[in-house]
Amino acid sequence: MRFDIVTLFPALFEGYLGEGLLSKAIKNELVDIHRHDLREFAPQSVHRPVDDKPFGGGPGMLIQVEPTVKCVEAVEAMSAVRARRILLTPGGKTFDQRMAEEFASDQRLILLCGRYEGFDQRVTDIWQPEEISIGDFVLNGGEVAAMVIIEAVIRLIPGVLGDQQSNIDDSFSQGNRLLEFPQYTRPREFRGHTVPDVLTGGDHGAIAKWRAEQSRLRTQSRRSDLLAENEIENKHPNE
Ligand code: SAM
Repeated sequence: MRFDIVTLFPALFEGYLGEGLLSKAIKNELVDIHRHDLREFAPQSVHRPVDDKPFGGGPGMLIQVEPTVKCVEAVEAMSAVRARRILLTPGGKTFDQRMAEEFASDQRLILLCGRYEGFDQRVTDIWQPEEISIGDFVLNGGEVAAMVIIEAVIRLIPGVLGDQQSNIDDSFSQGNRLLEFPQYTRPREFRGHTVPDVLTGGDHGAIAKWRAEQSRLRTQSRRSDLLAENEIENKHPNE
């Protein structure tokens, strides 16, 4: 899967691309990441500004329509693979696991990262991206939001995780959309806190039953909204 990240700060991704599952996925040619500097599309001048004051006044600066549209059009033309267009903004639709699953079935994503007060509205009007937010808070820029989307999506690409079962058990995932059950590793006892006997007894049926129950209890106490959704989703049409 190919990701094209359009940003004013391509260097921010340097360390990120070289570590962990992502770097392994890149080496194994499961994921291909390209960074593009929006400033390269600025009008020729010493400082290459891409921002200007908003019409009507107000604080801060906006990223201009011309360099942005020229940049995303050029990026899009770099590959014949049709791209899903994403503009990161706190005003967008909130990103979630279902969206990550949908994006993972695409072959290519373009992630447009804002800075300052965001983009001139005409970027959306002309380029027609999906506007996506990673939550109800305001970041300084879209780069971290782009990383969040990449992190969530690449986990779902077959071959990226060592064991695809993790995708099924993960919180919010297709398995049951609930929170994951509690997990333990060695030692069996620490400061009087012991691992539940069922997990060390070797009865796989009992372990599966315990985990399903714990997942339900945890979801009930922390995110009962998910249980309600789950019940609606699994309801038989004749019920
Ligand atoms: N003035 C904008 C507003 O209130 O909607 C916020 C601009 S923010 C300081 C700068 C950039 O950070 C945005 O253009 C966007 O790309 C990114 N950003 C900030 N918060 C975000 C969020 N919750 N989700 C996705 N991107 C975000």
